[in-house]
Amino acid sequence: MKRLHTRLLSVVMAFVMAFSFNLTALAADENDKEEKEQQIEALEQEKEEQNQALDSMHTDKANTEVEIESLDNQLSSVQTEIDTTNSELEKTEAELEQTKKDLEAAQEKEKKQYETLKLRIKVMYKKGDTGYLEILLAAEDITSLLNSTEYISKISDYDSNLLQSLRDTRTQIEALEKQQEEEVARITQLKEELETQETELQGILDEKAAYIQSLNTTIEYTEEYIQELEENISMEQQALAEIEAEIRAAAAAAAAEAAAAAAAQEEAAASGDGESSGSSYVEDVSGAYKPSYGGGWVWPSDTTYLTDTFGYQDWRGGNHNGIDIGAGYGSPIYAAASGTVWIAGYSSSAGNWVVIDHGGGVLSVYMHASALYVSSGQYVSAGQSIAAVGSTGWSTGPHLHFGVMVGSSGGYDGYWVDPLGYVSP
Ligand SMILES: [Zn+2]
Repeated sequence: MKRLHTRLLSVVMAFVMAFSFNLTALAADENDKEEKEQQIEALEQEKEEQNQALDSMHTDKANTEVEIESLDNQLSSVQTEIDTTNSELEKTEAELEQTKKDLEAAQEKEKKQYETLKLRIKVMYKKGDTGYLEILLAAEDITSLLNSTEYISKISDYDSNLLQSLRDTRTQIEALEKQQEEEVARITQLKEELETQETELQGILDEKAAYIQSLNTTIEYTEEYIQELEENISMEQQALAEIEAEIRAAAAAAAAEAAAAAAAQEEAAASGDGESSGSSYVEDVSGAYKPSYGGGWVWPSDTTYLTDTFGYQDWRGGNHNGIDIGAGYGSPIYAAASGTVWIAGYSSSAGNWVVIDHGGGVLSVYMHASALYVSSGQYVSAGQSIAAVGSTGWSTGPHLHFGVMVGSSGGYDGYWVDPLGYVSP
């Protein structure tokens, strides 16, 4: 009995010794683990805050939309001012043309009247009727002649009428000259106004580009920062996993079930968030969908310069639903194929935009226009001018965003394909 007791005691002692040795190692590891967990928690919190900031940049579009809409409204009101000034300029220039013609006619008329009067003077002189001839003959030109007639008291009705006509024509010429001067001044003024308005338009375009660029940059920085945080988190999690492995080893060595169970419980394996890029864009299915309106496709712009292609872009961090064609402000946008206009309107992201339904589930989309020439429900044929290039909506400079959607069931529910499968520059 005693022997057995002694044996049991030594087993217990051995167990206690082994356990307490490993407990010391376990305590040091537990401290490291706590520290790591705190670090990870802080990083996760920072990541959470940055994600929230990013979310608010992406989703709290209210302010952005208000700002873009206000800039687009300014664009369109300056555009209207420019149109008004241009048409007034055209009108004034036409008036000036007319004034010049009237002036020439009046000058011609005056010359003839003067010639007639001089002839009349010669005739009278030959007849010896010299009562006022001396005064008239002393006059060197029309002006001095008209001035000197004030001194003539006696004059025949005929001569008096001739003089009055000449005087009237002179008054008319003076009025026309004054009018011409005013019109020239008005044209100069209108041209200056136009210059100011065009500068203003450019200013708004620049402001918009800077605004959108700064938003894009902020989003980009935040995304980069989040990525850094994620890298840090994954490094710390790796370190934590190592500590946890040590803890597990220590616990196993101690053979203490309680400690082992506790260690197993604390074992929270780091799990990645498993985000997927989810790109489900179809690059080329051109052959699969044919518009039912028939007819060919035409390039939608006068220029062929592509500033952005279709599909995934790193800088964008996502997919681009069409192609961007760099084109001059106000240059024409053409319907790429025949069809019926489904949308002709405005949105703060697309700006002034047009969607054409070509039938057979095929749509084409045109964004960021400065002006629209078509309205919803209207039939358009391929190559018809439907809008003017602009920079409205989410745009940093004049360009045409052109997109092609297939598989639409009468709404905006199909999928985007590379427009270069349908049109070529
Ligand atoms: Zn685009």
